Amino acid sequence: MSEELLEYDVVVVGAGPAGSNAAYECAKNGYKVVMLEEDPVVGVPVQCGEGLSCFALQHLNIKPDEGFIAVNVSRLRVIFTNGNWMSVHDGGYELDRDKFDQFLVKRATDAGSELLTSAKVIDFDSKEKILKVTYNKKIISIKAKIVIGADGTKSNIAAWSGLLQKEQWRDKLIRAYELKMEGVDVNGFDMYFDVDIAPGGYVWVFQKGENIANVGIATTAKDTANRLDKFIEQKKIEGKVIGKTAGAIPYKGPLEKTYADGILIAGDAAGSTNPVFLGGISTAMQTGSLAGKTASESLKAGDFSEGFLSRYQKKWKKLPLADKSLLETAKIMHEFTPEMWEKMGELVGKSDVTNITALGKLRVVLKAFYPKYWSLIPVVPYMPTVMKAFSITRKWGW
Ligand SMILES: Cc1cc2nc3c(=O)[nH]c(=O)nc-3n(C[C@H](O)[C@H](O)[C@H](O)COP(=O)(O)OP(=O)(O)OC[C@H]3O[C@@H](n4cnc5c(N)ncnc54)[C@H](O)[C@@H]3O)c2cc1C
Repeated sequence: MSEELLEYDVVVVGAGPAGSNAAYECAKNGYKVVMLEEDPVVGVPVQCGEGLSCFALQHLNIKPDEGFIAVNVSRLRVIFTNGNWMSVHDGGYELDRDKFDQFLVKRATDAGSELLTSAKVIDFDSKEKILKVTYNKKIISIKAKIVIGADGTKSNIAAWSGLLQKEQWRDKLIRAYELKMEGVDVNGFDMYFDVDIAPGGYVWVFQKGENIANVGIATTAKDTANRLDKFIEQKKIEGKVIGKTAGAIPYKGPLEKTYADGILIAGDAAGSTNPVFLGGISTAMQTGSLAGKTASESLKAGDFSEGFLSRYQKKWKKLPLADKSLLETAKIMHEFTPEMWEKMGELVGKSDVTNITALGKLRVVLKAFYPKYWSLIPVVPYMPTVMKAFSITRKWGW
């Protein structure tokens, strides 16, 4: 093993949606930037339900491209245990996530960023900003003015920088497990909220192609695979399993601090996932992009201090994804009993709420006072918060 030292303005660790958006912004501004990705091929393996809103791309001026879109989706449904549902007709995509990540990385390299694959960061001296990286059967050292930690739920850069404690971080992650199934017909994205099957989370059935669906579960329970099998049996889903994946999703909100001297943390590494529906691609792109913009400003000013970089956190805190209604709503949902979910289903019936008005929302709240919905009375004071969180989620959270 020999050693060499490479120097960059910015090193981005991780070439997922957060990292590639960060690198793109830095490269576009003319800075010397490299993305380090431990996997040999960007985006592989896919560990994702692959659902993304149209707004997520519009917001960052990214043109939808059939090279990374598997299906155009126009309906999302939240389905309750008794079969009632609430739907919205918001535009979205079922991605080919590997192609999507590769597209974003190419966008960054086209703008001038470098990319090293099979390059795993194994240590980080957060004072000197020197990363130790295994690459080409060697250990190389890379020094940067700014390091952006976009290394997903492992969050090693944040841990090495003292921005998170691994023990506490593990408690902020929810388990996810997913099967790709052939022979399953679904129109759009269906999300099943059933506390008995998926406590703390939900089950999704996302249209992946003609007769192909991503069927997944996120739950605080440990036996994810058994629970998903139980759901599949209950719903009589008879498809052939053609793929499996698993992973973790941050579900208890962002890190308290996402910056330090010469360091920024973005995407899942910073816990930026939407806690309501657990979507993290859009929020990773939003925070990655802001991290890249902030790094560029810092390089322009020649000031990489914690004080200067604190503006990154101020910026993402202003984004709707940081609104406190989201975490509050997730907490309320986690405390719902099976009976409350059932009653909530009865309350909404089978309704399309795409264009629900303020009056329509008020009617729902008032209906909760009917005697048969009395078990929902404790929730009534929180309904405006929940409604706010859902409207933010519709646009910014997936
Ligand atoms: C089963 C499952 C289903 C999901 N479904 C959806 C969905 O349908 N829609 C949605 O919006 N979100 C979904 N999510 C969440 C979404 O996948 C993440 O929020 C998103 O990938 C976050 O992007 P990121 O760039 O922050 O991190 P990642 O995409 O995880 O990228 C981090 C990258 O860093 C690399 N890396 C890590 N450590 C190192 C290191 N030491 N050195 C070099 N490279 C390193 C990793 O290899 C990886 O490529 C799902 C998650 C799971 C687990």
